Amino acid sequence: MTEPVVVIGGDAAGMSAASKVKREAPDTEVIVFEQGEWVSYAACGMPYYIKGDIEHLDDLVQVTPEEFRAERGVDLRTGHEVVGIDPDSETVTVRTDNETFEQSYGTLLIATGASAVEPPFAGMDLDGVFTLHDMDEAGEIDRYIDEHEPESAAIVGGGYVGIEMAEALDERGLDVALYEMLPQVLAPFGEAVGERVGDHLSEQGVDLHLETAVDGFSGERAVDAVETEDGRRPAELVVVGVGVEPNTSLAAEAGIELGETGAIAVDEYGRTNDENIYAAGDCAESTNVVTGEPDHVPLALTANRAGRAIGQTITGTPQPVGEIAGTAIVKAFDLGAARTGVLDEERARDAGFEPVSVTIDTASRAHYYPGASELTVTLVADEPSGRVLGASLVGREGAKRIDTVATALTAALTVEELQGADLAYAPPYSPVWDPILTAAKVLGSKLAD
Ligand SMILES: Cc1cc2nc3c(=O)[nH]c(=O)nc-3n(C[C@H](O)[C@H](O)[C@H](O)COP(=O)(O)OP(=O)(O)OC[C@H]3O[C@@H](n4cnc5c(N)ncnc54)[C@H](O)[C@@H]3O)c2cc1C
Repeated sequence: MTEPVVVIGGDAAGMSAASKVKREAPDTEVIVFEQGEWVSYAACGMPYYIKGDIEHLDDLVQVTPEEFRAERGVDLRTGHEVVGIDPDSETVTVRTDNETFEQSYGTLLIATGASAVEPPFAGMDLDGVFTLHDMDEAGEIDRYIDEHEPESAAIVGGGYVGIEMAEALDERGLDVALYEMLPQVLAPFGEAVGERVGDHLSEQGVDLHLETAVDGFSGERAVDAVETEDGRRPAELVVVGVGVEPNTSLAAEAGIELGETGAIAVDEYGRTNDENIYAAGDCAESTNVVTGEPDHVPLALTANRAGRAIGQTITGTPQPVGEIAGTAIVKAFDLGAARTGVLDEERARDAGFEPVSVTIDTASRAHYYPGASELTVTLVADEPSGRVLGASLVGREGAKRIDTVATALTAALTVEELQGADLAYAPPYSPVWDPILTAAKVLGSKLAD
């Protein structure tokens, strides 16, 4: 009898792989072990649930456990935590509330995701102090606001989770303060974005504290203040959003190699150093399309895409998991901010490039058309070759234009080639020269100098 395909983790990467295997090879036995009760959920939607834009938490579930079992034929077992992998005997050890048992596998996919970093702040265990990484936490934050009616909130971290939560908590009527250690919010999006988003947060009434380290939180049983190097401020709710770390302990204990980023090292098909074990999603590395180096940017499309590709590979048609550009977009109140590729000069130099960049302010629509607003575009290229390395965008509309540059990165286009792209124009949508083309023209002239 052939051993089953076993998947650890029932969200984006794991369920994409499981579904693909069953679609391509319906007779293959696929068992998914998920430690929690939620599967196939859109963690990305959680801030909008807390904000109130999404009515029910389970609206964020794409496919229910029952549908996976009945319609897709996946043997999905929630409440099952995998606590060990033995690559020699090709088994995993699984624990439930009632028992611990061994399950053999023919092929194993590790799709254990990432966890929110919990810094050793004083008072992390006080009531009202949260991280936001899983659906239960989203439900808890929502309930805490309903039950305790906090008036003030502190957000620690100016990354995308912190910024989305600033908007969500503001909408729920709390006075929001945001603390960021660095001189700008959204550091991976570059300076131009950080500056505009920071100003906009302040305009929206967020009490923004840049270059401010948080020491901890105080309160009797529940949090009532945040302590920083500048003193103490009221905070009856705290969200700590200082990043995530890949869940790699199971893999590491089984002798599966981790890469230099700390995530699980995989080849272009998502295979680890054990030929029967794959890894995908937030727990695994990807290859950066610009540098060709291993990278770890835990985002949803990367997880879905890699899971799907691995599902196909397992069923006999090898499919590369694809490279990443770290393309990301975030809503910050009325602004959209986006980034792709390599923006950081030092990183570009380390990868052997000589970066040169321009930042321009353009209009999102024809200048005369009602509703046009300012769109700030930064475009980065390698000086000797002219190859596009990355971009960022920020404005009230049009940030999704980042996809044009992400596509250029995938095709390894030069600035000149990007400048030659035939992009769409009509006054309500764009100036004749799309902002990306204008940025390419300006950067092209700089390269020609
Ligand atoms: C608040 C928030 C907002 C986000 N917004 C965006 C966004 O706008 N755009 C974007 O691209 N990305 C966003 N992301 C990131 C995106 O959600 C993740 O990249 C994606 O969910 C990764 O999928 P995954 O399957 O790799 O991991 P996960 O979604 O983390 O799933 C891993 C699963 O494995 C289970 N598991 C772990 N260990 C075990 C074990 N030992 N045994 C059994 N089960 C186990 C976990 O319970 C979990 O269900 C956001 C994330 C958060 C938290």
